Amino acid sequence: MTNPLLSEWTTPFQIAPFDAITDEDFEPAFEAAIITARTNTAAIAENAEPPTFANTIEALERADEDLDRVLGVFFNLAGADSNPKREELQRAFSPRLAQYSNEITSNKALFARIEVLWKEHETLGLSDEQARVLMLTRRSFVRSGAQLEGYAGDRLAEVKERLAVLGTQFTQNLLADEREWFMELAEDDLEGLPDFVVATARAAGEEKKAKGPVVTLSRSLIVPFLQFSPRRDLREQAYSAWVARGANGGETDNRDIAAEILRLREERAMLLGYDSFAEYKLETEMAKTPEAVEKLLMKVWEPARAQAEADGSALAAMMHNDGVNAELEAWDWRYYSEKRRKAEHDLDEAELKPYLQLDRMIEAAFACSNRLFGLEFKAVDAPLYHADARAWEVTRKGQHMALFIGDYFARGSKRSGAWCSTMRTQQKLAGDIRPIVVNVCNFAKPAKGKPALLSYDDARTLFHEFGHALHQMLSDVTYQRISGTSVARDFVELPSQLYEHWLEVPEVLAEFATHAETGETMPKDLLDRLLAAATYDMGFQTVEYVASALVDLEFHRGEAPEDPMERQAEILEGIEMPHAIRMRHATPNFAHIFSGDGYSSGYYSYMWSEVMDADAFQAFEEAGGAFDPKMAEKLEKFILSAGGSEEADVLYTKFRGKLPGVEALLKGRRLDTAA
Ligand SMILES: [Zn+2]
Repeated sequence: MTNPLLSEWTTPFQIAPFDAITDEDFEPAFEAAIITARTNTAAIAENAEPPTFANTIEALERADEDLDRVLGVFFNLAGADSNPKREELQRAFSPRLAQYSNEITSNKALFARIEVLWKEHETLGLSDEQARVLMLTRRSFVRSGAQLEGYAGDRLAEVKERLAVLGTQFTQNLLADEREWFMELAEDDLEGLPDFVVATARAAGEEKKAKGPVVTLSRSLIVPFLQFSPRRDLREQAYSAWVARGANGGETDNRDIAAEILRLREERAMLLGYDSFAEYKLETEMAKTPEAVEKLLMKVWEPARAQAEADGSALAAMMHNDGVNAELEAWDWRYYSEKRRKAEHDLDEAELKPYLQLDRMIEAAFACSNRLFGLEFKAVDAPLYHADARAWEVTRKGQHMALFIGDYFARGSKRSGAWCSTMRTQQKLAGDIRPIVVNVCNFAKPAKGKPALLSYDDARTLFHEFGHALHQMLSDVTYQRISGTSVARDFVELPSQLYEHWLEVPEVLAEFATHAETGETMPKDLLDRLLAAATYDMGFQTVEYVASALVDLEFHRGEAPEDPMERQAEILEGIEMPHAIRMRHATPNFAHIFSGDGYSSGYYSYMWSEVMDADAFQAFEEAGGAFDPKMAEKLEKFILSAGGSEEADVLYTKFRGKLPGVEALLKGRRLDTAA
């Protein structure tokens, strides 16, 4: 029987035939696809014809087609719906992929052909896009060690393979710790919790086969529990378990793994001739240097810390009024902050939540993209990998643009967080290929027959991931290397964070925030209070984020720390971290920077992008409003469709006319008036 992963897909939109694929199909499909990829690259390297852009660069672009197809399916499943077999496969595949990519970049004959083209690039008659793809291809070879000889080359290969293994291990340990822990709640422990938290805790209890409701380490359960539970002892217990993920000793402990990863990254940078991993990493980013990153972070840190300290004192006073004579701790912050929010803005999650129905928020995200870019969405039946996932066809003026898959509910088999991935990216080299884009979230699943309700944060996450999806769905380039979100890491969050602004447009909420039971639109006064409170607790949020970003930067900047936990403590002390706030992600569970290379010395990227998104949305407001058609056209033309076809600062300047300063960001976070 033919392997369904490798046979032609006759499903709607050539989506993978998930109903026919079993876990046993992955290993043989991977084997076959990697052999094909090797054969293809060998043919390019050994081609007797002199190198041309077509027979070398374009051929390389297409060499991995089968492999991309198999991995597109596999990695989506490994993240969104894993099981022990898939975890085992992931552990087996990742070092072999690292090995394969190393084989390519250390192939001397292949690199020699690229060098010939690079030296002649001005006389080859290349289009701008082709010249860019050639430059990027060569740069990725050089940065992977193509110019290294002998021991240095071999050692680099070893280092990269080991890093791939460690990254996978780090992720799986974290997942194991998250899955393992839960805290059973007795009926009177539920006191003070709003209905939606109780319902989520009961649903989680059923999933864990516990006797009653439980708190798990899923963000959509533990955060509201910390916000609402008046039981300081239970909050402390849950919070401590949450921050201890990856640091529980035993087999799933990530602390030694983190130390080894940092050492190996430093060695990797040294082998390639850089002073530090941060310098190596930032070379290709918009920020360019560690100094530029530090400068931005510190500009934000000082006002944020001042705001957070002031807020902390106010919260401590509230706690003392409650008769708790202790210092305000991290497990108290959210609880008193929620109370204060209710007192100052008369806004509580429980009142708000019935108005934020998942289905209506999906409609809202679709509707905004319709007004801005003319996109239309139609639910379609397609074989998907899980019953909770849903698919829509995306069209514009009757033309197929993309397939969009939304997989919104938390479950034990899904890794935490929210993300946007693709099963296929847009390109034109192999025909007019349109993308299949997936948004994965971890929203609490409602009890049977009840509508799914979101927190305001959840709704923002939904818009955020949809912004990434637009970057893929509107992509209009020829080469996969620069397609969609294949841009500098500190530019990639611009479309996603920018899209969050449309959720805050009053007319959008007025239309789509309707009550789950009565169907009524959100009362004007609740809407006003919501928008006024949207920047509430920004001191806290900015501090927990910037602290993580600074630790990430420092970890990769100088010599790798012997003991990362000790170094982390030193860094936090150095910046005078407020006592009752912890890093958003502490080292043992900082998946962004340790699960892979993506965000290593790059966690700052969200803030770098926010500098731009705040400025970019201001451009809409200046031009005539959130749906200004001229700005929407520019946004699509220079950013959402352009992928990595030019340097990020060039693209942004074309869109806006200039590069942004930090002012719009501070204003957006209401930190411009902080002490
Ligand atoms: Zn994002």
